[in-house]
Formats: sequence, C-alpha cells, structure tokens
Amino acid sequence: RELPSDGTSPNFVRQVMKACYSRVSPSAKVKDPKLVAWSDSVAELLELDPAEFKREDFPLIFSGGKELQGSECYAQCYGGHQFGVWAGQLGDGRAITLGEALNSKNERWELQLKGAGKTPYSRMADGLAVLRSSVREFLCSEAMHHLGIPTTRALCLVTTGDDVLRDMFYDGNAKMEPGAVVCRVAPSFLRFGSYQIHAAREDSKLVRLLADYTLKYHFPDLPDEEELEIKINEQDGQISKNKYAAWFVKVAESTSCLVAMWQAVGFTHGVLNTDNMSVLGLTIDYGPFGFLDAFDPKYTPNTTDLPGRRYCFANQPDIGLWNILQFGNTLMAAGLLTQEELQYGLNRYADTFMVHYQQNMTKKLGLKEYNKDLTSKLLSNLAFDKVDYTNFFRALASVNLTEPITEDTLVPLKSVLPDISKERKKTWMDWLSLYREKAEGISDESRKAAMNKVNPKYVLRNYLCQSAIDAAEAGDFSEVRQLLEVMKRPFDEQPEVEKKYARLPPTWAYRPGVCMLSCSS
Ligand code: AMP
Ligand code: MG
Ligand code: MG
Repeated sequence: RELPSDGTSPNFVRQVMKACYSRVSPSAKVKDPKLVAWSDSVAELLELDPAEFKREDFPLIFSGGKELQGSECYAQCYGGHQFGVWAGQLGDGRAITLGEALNSKNERWELQLKGAGKTPYSRMADGLAVLRSSVREFLCSEAMHHLGIPTTRALCLVTTGDDVLRDMFYDGNAKMEPGAVVCRVAPSFLRFGSYQIHAAREDSKLVRLLADYTLKYHFPDLPDEEELEIKINEQDGQISKNKYAAWFVKVAESTSCLVAMWQAVGFTHGVLNTDNMSVLGLTIDYGPFGFLDAFDPKYTPNTTDLPGRRYCFANQPDIGLWNILQFGNTLMAAGLLTQEELQYGLNRYADTFMVHYQQNMTKKLGLKEYNKDLTSKLLSNLAFDKVDYTNFFRALASVNLTEPITEDTLVPLKSVLPDISKERKKTWMDWLSLYREKAEGISDESRKAAMNKVNPKYVLRNYLCQSAIDAAEAGDFSEVRQLLEVMKRPFDEQPEVEKKYARLPPTWAYRPGVCMLSCSS
C-alpha cells in the first residue's frame, strides 16, 4: 500500500503493481445528495430492511459522502483489451467497492459505488458519473435481471447535487451535467482483465493467487482434483484433472450462455472489451448499450465503435470467443492451463453457444425443434424489412396457423410490417407456410402462451431511457421509477401502459445521442 507523496489522499493516480486492489475512500464532493430511485428486489437480496432507504443519511452514504459503518473500501486493479488492443492498466476508475454483505443464505454480495470520485485508476478522468449514464445503468441492470439475463444489479440511484463537466458527443460541446451515483451489486465484479493485468506484468504468482481466491469464494462447487475428469479430447480419450481448466471451461460456458441470451433478446452491449467481461458470466458495465428495434445485424450503439463496428449485434458471439481466448491465454501464461485445455474451453464456448442459441430461438418461435432454414430465413426477412425485433415475436404469437396461410394470416403482423410491397407480402407468406409446417401438432393457444413467456413485450429501448433521462434532468424522477416498474414484468401484457412503452419507436428515437451514444459519460 503506497501512500501519496504529498500526504493528502490515497487515491492519487498511479500504476499499482503487485496488488489486485487498492484501499481508497470515496471522495466525491456531494452538495445535496438525494435518493431518487431504488430496487426493492435488490434490497431483498441483501436482506436490507426497506425502511433503511428512508434513513436520513442514506443518500449521503450511497453517494460516497459518508462512510458506511463496517465498510472496507477498495478499487480493483484490472487491465484489458480495448477494441482488440491491449490497453494496460485500467482498473476501477470510478467505482469504489464498499465491501461484501453476506446474507443469511451465505450469499456474498459486493456493493460498489459508481461515480463516487477518483481512485488510483482514474487516469485522466474525474471518477464521476453523470445522471444520464447512471439512469441507464440503474434501469438496465434491473431490466436485464427481470428478463432472466445474468447481470450485475443496481440497489439505488442517488443524485449528488453537483455538476460534472462532460464533452457530450465528442463534438467539442463541453457542458455541465448533473452528477449521480449508482450502487451496483454483484457476487463479484472480477473480470477477465482482473487476471490479464498480472499476466501482462509477468506476475504469475498473483494470477494464481487471484484464481485461487476466485475458486474458493465464487466456484466452490467445482469438484476436487481427485474426482475431476475433463475429457479434453474425445478422440484420444485425453483427460485433464486440472481445477483451473475446469474453471476456465465454466467461464467459457457461462459466457457463451450469456451471449446466446443477448442474441435472442436483441441486446447489444456496445463495449465488449475484456475489462467488461465478468468472470461469473454476468452482463457488466452498461454504457452505450442498445436493444434492437428495427432489426439490423450491424446495429452498433456505440459511436466510438464506428466505422469498424467491432461490437455490433451480430459480432457479439465471435467477440465472446475472442475474449475467452484472451482469458485462456492469461491462464496459460501463468502456467495454470495447457494449450489442449485452452483449446477444449474454446470448443466448449462454441458448442455451448450453438446449443443455447438454437434452444432460445426455438423457444422464441414456440417450436419444439430447431430449424436452421426457418430461423435464418426469418432473420434475413426481419433485416430486409427492418422489422421491430421485440414487437415482431409478440405479434407472431397471434398469427393463425390452424388454417392454411393466406393474406389474412398477415393481419396480426400489420403493426410490425406496415406498408410492405406485394412481393414482400408473398415472401412473408412463404415463410409463414414453412413456420406452419414446423408448428404442426402445436395448437395456436399453447404456442402463443409459450411464446409470450419468452418474448418480452417490454424492453428498455434507448428512447424510453432518454425520455426518463430528460424528465430526470428537469428534476422529475417519476418516469425513471415507472419505467422500472414496467421493466419488472417484461412478459406481462400490462395493457394500461402498452401505448406508451410497447409502441414502435418514434422518429426521434433514431437521432444520434438517443439510439447511439459514445463511451464517455
Ligand atoms: P469502460 O469503457 O466504461 O469500460 O471504462 C474503461 C475504463 O475507463 C475503466 O477503467 C473505467 O474505470 C474508466 N473510466 C470511465 N469513465 C471514467 C471516469 N469518469 N473517471 C474515471 N475513470 C473512468
Ligand atoms: Mg468498464
Ligand atoms: Mg463503462
């Protein structure tokens, strides 16, 4: 633990060597902290009495202005590949862990303040977060969880009353924006980059130490080495008894399972750098993410990622594999993994992805068996007609497949397929005929019920977030809270709010800054 030369703050920016974290204290100046939104279900996980939200000092504590009793604050040291290039030390530049809470089920929940001031990892930046990015992280963490997608959670959103300087869209228009802090919650915020940084510094000892810590606290169910048998090569029957290999395989599988869920729901993360890849297979770091509306495989919500589109929607499965390869290389460099074990993990990623993706798409169509032809034709039709991805599957659940396909079959799809040519109508009818064939033996009612359980009616579209942000910036947080309520039940009909939250995006939704954002926030 180094101390600052001027004796002021232990948070001074530096390269932190031979350590996985640095002790810090939150240092945000908070003028007028206010609790503006919170998640009851996260409070439940923590077994936090909801009355605590009403405590007078809650906003001050959860904006980093006052120490939480019993907390042991630190910022994590990690590195990462940013856009495919090794970037060296990154670390928690604006996230400060308060500590872990153990609940009565012995579950371990790490609480982390995002935007509570500088740490040794803040580099040139201020360690703060603005309201718009905090609203997005708060809402999307919870929306993803309620969609059934593994994610870090968000306990609460506190505004600080302070202004933060931001360069809005990298266009030189610097402006002041309201500051805010989100309290993120996860069993752990360890990422691929948490291990990579030590391997890059040729500190194998530290990689192993951190791996052992991870296995002990976060993968306690992995079998002991004596019992362990990983068939790394089917052909020659080669077996591995290496616990780090078993762990690597688990990480590969949980990552591929996560990406398969993103692809099915139409979620684009936006910044899949290796420092944003959770070792627990959680969605982590909500920056310029986006849910698909008009289906476009090349959809890239991050303006920083243009024109390359490395992290566009359709690339995510391959990027997941590339990231797993970097993680495997790290373990191999530290002597924890052999080349064969690494290759086996990569194969597991690919195989698991295909199994999960096919299962997810089959369920979305309400079918029993995956059909490649049907699925790929559907995706190309959706792309051709730029069909709203979320609303399409809800509408499809209502088509009549009992009778042979006619123009009338298209009626329930009218809202998602307005103004299509005769030719396109014919293409869709052909597809529906194929669909009808594959759905033989499944009643329309049971197909609809099954589809509506897996195809959300409500997703956190960027323009909905933007409306909530606009109101929040004007001091009205009711929209943030209502969006949270709607997103808690994404598969329910909720007819009272459908006109507002389930409609096709208005034209302003396609404005840059709404459908696309930069990394800087
Ligand atoms: P991201 O692209 O959000 O994953 O962030 C990449 C790196 O930049 C991480 O190390 C972050 O902690 C750091 N970072 C992002 N924004 C800030 C900020 N406002 N202050 C300090 N560090 C930041
Ligand atoms: Mg990040
Ligand atoms: Mg970020």
